[in-house]
Amino acid sequence: MSFDALGLAEPLLRAVREQGYTAPTPIQVDAIPHVLAGRDLLGVAQTGTGKTAAFGLPLLQQLAAKPAKARPGRPRALVLTPTRELAIQIDQSFADYGRHLGLRHAVIFGGVGQAAQEKALRAGLDVLTATPGRLLDLQGQGFVHFDAVELFVLDEADRMLDLGFLPDVRRVLQHLPKQRQSLFFSATMPPSITALAATILTEPVRVEVVPESTPAERILQRVLFVDPDGKKEVIAKLVSDPRVDRALVFTRTNHRANRVAQLLERAGVKAAAIHGNTSQNARQRALEGFRDGTTPVLVATDIAARGIDVEGISHVVNFDLPNVPESYVHRIGRTARAGASGMALSLCDREEIAFLRDIEKLIGKRIDVAGDRIGLPDDVLQPGPLGAERRQQAAPKAGGGGKRSGRRGGRRRP
Ligand code: AMP
Repeated sequence: MSFDALGLAEPLLRAVREQGYTAPTPIQVDAIPHVLAGRDLLGVAQTGTGKTAAFGLPLLQQLAAKPAKARPGRPRALVLTPTRELAIQIDQSFADYGRHLGLRHAVIFGGVGQAAQEKALRAGLDVLTATPGRLLDLQGQGFVHFDAVELFVLDEADRMLDLGFLPDVRRVLQHLPKQRQSLFFSATMPPSITALAATILTEPVRVEVVPESTPAERILQRVLFVDPDGKKEVIAKLVSDPRVDRALVFTRTNHRANRVAQLLERAGVKAAAIHGNTSQNARQRALEGFRDGTTPVLVATDIAARGIDVEGISHVVNFDLPNVPESYVHRIGRTARAGASGMALSLCDREEIAFLRDIEKLIGKRIDVAGDRIGLPDDVLQPGPLGAERRQQAAPKAGGGGKRSGRRGGRRRP
């Protein structure tokens, strides 16, 4: 399947080519023709599937097909998304995909001063990407009006719910014109989200991609059994290997993220940490360095890593294994995005063996063993099969008679 077959106009096809996309992802194939035809859409998909282009490209085409002067504070398309980071990324995608169309776009989110956002709104715009709280603030102050909205996108609806944004989302909905096209995306569809979708969408087309419990086939997964104290040594060796272009390292806690970044820096590896306590500015700086390659290693907690969209992550390293097996699938999905292949390496100490088994149960297979507690084998980063004997090597016995470690405060379900 090629982009040309989806009914997109030339300026968009050109922009997509310039982005280096050669073929549409499954959700793009399924969604784009329906959105172009004016249908409402219910997309069950997570970040990393190409969903931004799945709604962004046809949305831009719809707007370009009916040229209108960009008006101050009156967007024709409104995209609601839960976090600042996603908002910035989506707005950047509109810039990239819309570069040959001359449409105007702006982004607003909380946690920063509002003057620049007021100015962007006053300058006139076609597409507005926003987080709900700041959007309502600015609407309350009269800087933005919803009466011209023809296209509405609700992104990451399940996270809106998690983060307590549902009342804000409902308030925005009350102000939207009844006559509009709506697109709704969520990674999961619990009953509350299905009910919300039903209030927003009219006879939607449903498009669904890969269930969450299945990591992409292309991701090569390996586990290294290490002593708890051995992790520090192994991590520095691993990420300084020349085969590692860009590594995202996961830790269990904020504190451990900082410690790992510091120990990597001491070992001469450029690394930055992001976690729940990182200020917005420091976070942006860390992400920029990671994107432009000046900081090839980013250490993060699960929460901090959600929504990060950086291309070319060659390796995901689990410094700590997650106690929630689904998090493993989310984590390793950061590599091997949109067609690329990648590698996921997990350091596992005695106390984490129960977590490893839970993960293997969820993904339905054993993860190849790449090393024992003695050291880092040379071929750990080599793609392709490992030595037969290592593959079969039994895992060390879990500490405490195989019981789960109490250290993590037991097991949580998301
Ligand atoms: P998303 O799910 O929208 O966050 O997209 C995930 C990543 O895939 C982004 O870095 C996009 O730039 C990239 N991407 C989206 N569509 C394609 C495509 N058709 N081919 C290659 N990369 C893509």
